[in-house]
Amino acid sequence: MNENDSSRSRLDHSPSTADGSEPTDGLTPFAAVGTFVDAAADVLELTPDTRRALRTPSREVRVELPLRRRNGSTGVYVGYRVQHDNSRGPYKGGIRYHPSADLDEVRALASLMTWKTAVVDVPFGGSKGGIEVDTSGFSRGELEQLTRRYTRAISDVIGPTRDIPAPDMATDAQVMAWLLDEYEEHHGHAPAVVTGKPLALGGSPGRDSATGTGCIICLDQVMAEQGRRPEETTLAIQGFGNVGRWAAARAVEVGYRVTAVSDSRGAVVNEDGLAVDELRLHAARTGSVASFEGADPLDGDDLIALDVDVLIPAAVGGVIHLGNIERLKAGIIIEGANHPVTPAAHHSLVDRGLTIIPDILANAGGVTVSYFEWVQNIQRFRWTEGRVDTELRAVLTTAWQEVARVARDRDLDLRTAAYVIALGRVTEAARLRGRLGDGDHALDPPGT
Ligand code: NAD
Repeated sequence: MNENDSSRSRLDHSPSTADGSEPTDGLTPFAAVGTFVDAAADVLELTPDTRRALRTPSREVRVELPLRRRNGSTGVYVGYRVQHDNSRGPYKGGIRYHPSADLDEVRALASLMTWKTAVVDVPFGGSKGGIEVDTSGFSRGELEQLTRRYTRAISDVIGPTRDIPAPDMATDAQVMAWLLDEYEEHHGHAPAVVTGKPLALGGSPGRDSATGTGCIICLDQVMAEQGRRPEETTLAIQGFGNVGRWAAARAVEVGYRVTAVSDSRGAVVNEDGLAVDELRLHAARTGSVASFEGADPLDGDDLIALDVDVLIPAAVGGVIHLGNIERLKAGIIIEGANHPVTPAAHHSLVDRGLTIIPDILANAGGVTVSYFEWVQNIQRFRWTEGRVDTELRAVLTTAWQEVARVARDRDLDLRTAAYVIALGRVTEAARLRGRLGDGDHALDPPGT
């Protein structure tokens, strides 16, 4: 194991990522999240020391993962686990396999998890894992070996009461099953070490669909507030993986018209509304939404410029930026993906009057049902899908109401309001633990 484990590591705001890829609108993902944290810290008048403590990850683990490939070569992949904050509970965050999952990206995602778990008030902190790899050409066996090696490399820092992984981009329930098996080889029976597992290994009903479902629950709240009806509302969804696929399915169930979707290989559009069930079968069969017969082909870059009411980015970060916001026609953005809108684009779109439901609320359905899964594992008790759905709706509706109230009361946009609530809760927990001085105070609890 080649591990570089630094407690309370330095803040890195340099405008380039570890792999040299281009920052979006001049900011790396971690720096971009940092600007949202700072805006809320300004509202809460937090001291410089507290801001620094809240922004800096607690621990960063870097591991090298050699893998013998089928063709006889050996690939060496770099993986990370970043633990951002555990003031409110064990670290919690998914694992992503993607070429852009470098240290800066994983830091950003770990930080977002801290704020996300706080906004929906589930008793977790924030973390994230990633391997810088494109697994699209991997065999199932290679994917399993890579996952097992990564699990062994990080197994000392994860655990049911320490840090609990889950799926993210290019990882799924099967990957979580391998992770669980490898962890238990060394630590004994511990189903609560990971969420997003298959049902047969202690997974929760409703976890697979939870993030997409949560996006639509949030959209329903906005529609109700604006006095609009789903039947009169069109959606475009970027990304047709776990989040995008389920968001599309739930949207159609409620009565919205999904007119366009994209994935990394193409995009399709049908103004009358896509037959989402058929499209899902087509994508499962062919590996992409492209060439779906019930729609016209579309250039993937043009999806965000379609004349729709709602845009759901559900793929990668930084896709809505200063270079393309002029093309945007949607009035509502539901951030299914993490940090899909850059800070500069966010401010410009808010000034234009768009409603943006921020990632730390819009895609929090996943971690909320992960929390339910963890609770079920600890209690050795299985909930019904109906109970999961009811509790998910209750958690997200409460979170939405709190965010909307703080936005109204303090004249803030929804993102800043969500961060204000999150920073208030994390600051209070950290202060009570003695990790922060007494100078910083929590936001007044909702309802006061
Ligand atoms: P996934 O790997 O299941 O699917 C990703 C989808 O995005 C695929 O369809 C892929 O083809 C597509 N894609 C990739 N690059 C694209 C591009 N440039 N343009 C258009 N499409 C592109 O991943 P996922 O789990 O659905 O995650 C998607 C996003 O949602 C990520 O930002 C992730 O962090 C976030 N998220 C996921 C969860 C979860 O529970 N899975 C929870 C919260 C947030």
